[in-house]
Amino acid sequence: MNVVVLGSGTSHGVPVIGCDCRVCTSSDARDRRYRASLWVRDESTSIVIDTGPEFRLQALRAGIDRLDAVLLTHAHADHLHGLDDVRPLCHHRSIPVYGNAGQIEEARERFSYIFRHTQMGGGKPLVDFLDAGKGKFAVGDLEVTPIPLMHGRLETSGYRIGNLAYLTDCNAIPEASYALLEGTEVVVIDALRFTTHETHFSVDEAIEAIERINPARAYLTHICHAVGHEELNSYLKGKKIEPAFDGLSFDLG
Ligand SMILES: [Zn+2]
Ligand SMILES: [Zn+2]
Ligand SMILES: [Zn+2]
Repeated sequence: MNVVVLGSGTSHGVPVIGCDCRVCTSSDARDRRYRASLWVRDESTSIVIDTGPEFRLQALRAGIDRLDAVLLTHAHADHLHGLDDVRPLCHHRSIPVYGNAGQIEEARERFSYIFRHTQMGGGKPLVDFLDAGKGKFAVGDLEVTPIPLMHGRLETSGYRIGNLAYLTDCNAIPEASYALLEGTEVVVIDALRFTTHETHFSVDEAIEAIERINPARAYLTHICHAVGHEELNSYLKGKKIEPAFDGLSFDLG
């Protein structure tokens, strides 16, 4: 199984429009972060977790040429609003988009034009919104387990695919979800910045959650412009944790 981080940035992306801070003006390419998204594939199955506003650019950059499912973590704009750009990947069949019941309802509202009857060729993606709130399901030969997380008061969905866990947009992991994460090999987890936030893990909070899950390695994602890649990299020295960056790719069994 191969994993590509399509985007490692928070909701504004980095650089932030109009900002001239040291990270937004950094010459390190790893400080340029599209909105958070992940591509997971093996020989026969291709899954994208979240289609943010840069999905088209991310798909072109990573060379995504087929898509069997979209997994939705939640319906915030930075995770959903690029969904229309799955159109070239539909190839006359519907792509399932999985989320929990509330996320699916919100996504349906947001993309109401998809379900309006129009002439053929009306520029709409072929997608089926499916409720994944009932536990494990399969996409091709990959097994997917939704992992309920808390993003402030909003329940978001992390996903475990095989021994990979993607846990973004969260500031708490419910007890029952830790049980679903047992035996995870690689964790990619939300770590917005060094200081605390009402809806996202800080770097130290993410480290604490990683230590409890105890994977072989972990990557921090959904990073904002208060944190430079190199600075975070040195902070994590000696741990089996690294900052994610756009284009980071790794394999796992
Ligand atoms: Zn987000
Ligand atoms: Zn900035
Ligand atoms: Zn969010």
